[in-house]
Amino acid sequence: PYNGPSADEILAKRKDFLSPSVCNYYQKPLLVVDGKMQYLFDDKGRRYLDAFGGIATVSCGHCHPDIVNAIVNQTKRLQHSTVLYLNQAVSDFAEALASKLPGNLKVVFFTNSGTEANELAMMMARLYTGCHDIISLRNAYHGNAAGTMGATAQSIWKFNVIQSGVHHALNPDPYRGIFGADGEKYAKDVENLIEFGTSGQVAAFISEAIQGVGGIVELAPGYLPAVYKSIKKAGGLCIADEVQSGLARTGSFFWGFESQGVVPDIVTMAKGIGNGIPLGAVVTTPEIAEVLTRRSYFNTFGGNPVCTAAGLAVLRVIEKEKLQENAHVVGTYLKDRLIALKDKYEIIGDVRGRGLMLGVELVTDRELKTPAKAETLHVMDHMKDLGVLIGKGGSYGNVFRITPPLCFTKEDADFVVDAMDYAMCKM
Ligand code: PMP
Repeated sequence: PYNGPSADEILAKRKDFLSPSVCNYYQKPLLVVDGKMQYLFDDKGRRYLDAFGGIATVSCGHCHPDIVNAIVNQTKRLQHSTVLYLNQAVSDFAEALASKLPGNLKVVFFTNSGTEANELAMMMARLYTGCHDIISLRNAYHGNAAGTMGATAQSIWKFNVIQSGVHHALNPDPYRGIFGADGEKYAKDVENLIEFGTSGQVAAFISEAIQGVGGIVELAPGYLPAVYKSIKKAGGLCIADEVQSGLARTGSFFWGFESQGVVPDIVTMAKGIGNGIPLGAVVTTPEIAEVLTRRSYFNTFGGNPVCTAAGLAVLRVIEKEKLQENAHVVGTYLKDRLIALKDKYEIIGDVRGRGLMLGVELVTDRELKTPAKAETLHVMDHMKDLGVLIGKGGSYGNVFRITPPLCFTKEDADFVVDAMDYAMCKM
């Protein structure tokens, strides 16, 4: 049983001592005290089905025993910065991670977060090409430090501080974008940006394969191959941000970019790769990695033994428990059920995504696609009361994000959809 302070007491402390900008997801904030696989438990011992997984943070499930054991065992043995010394946990994980990537992507740099990973990727591209200009997508989220905030393109996440050298291309959004699902037309916009917004040479193009924070937007088919071609012609590198879409989440592939049949020059990842432990990584080719030998590159905790032991355990669990296949099977089933729900409720404007990275966009008018922001919050709150936690996102805050741990079952999927159905019919 939980004997700690109440939710109200914690909320009061949070108000006094923590950042005033943190948001509470629900009208009455939830106090979570325990986690087990796809479940979270509150202070009263009530169980919730976690269909958001901390924005895809716990890839394999809360407190997965194999991963907890790996962390505990390594912590008992040694935790240290490994910038100066050798350690087996670090090199074993680097080797295992590199083996999951295509082509010559085999040099790994470890960081503590997705922001740091993207900062490093963007810097390497700038050093390698000798150019400063980077092209990113409107509606992207790549981080919140000076460089990555520049690449992020949603006003809610951007502060008015210097963010130089990033141009934002039209978002190849099949639902809201001006060219619908025609990936090649959006790719032409990137060609225009290079021609009119830069010297003709660029450092890089960075994008997610499925925009997470942006509301589960899958890039229009044919987009990435055409854009990668234009970027290469302009001397730039292609960076794939797999912080949310990587690591088997999309089911059909291990990495999100594979669904468009491209091979990036640099891949970044974080969140799920540590199953909740702070860990990020940048993987690139030996030739590109070489740029960092021009100076010293130092990150005290990036790739420490405890975090990398967790990372290796995550890869093993994904394989052992066939979680990619599960993401495909359960995700397809869940998406089909959500599509059926769309036939029942006018308010559902779009159902999209792949595997266990799904989005449901709510609109008050299907023709005008007017965002149903208040209704989104209302349904989320009601679903919480029914014992189901989902996320929300998108520029208008009107998209449900369903990104559960990869151990989700069909029964869990049914519970999510049944709860959503009930909350909507009571609206
Ligand atoms: N890239 C993507 C696609 C993300 O979703 C996020 C976090 N929401 C980041 C980068 C930044 O990761 P972090 O919060 O670990 O810095």
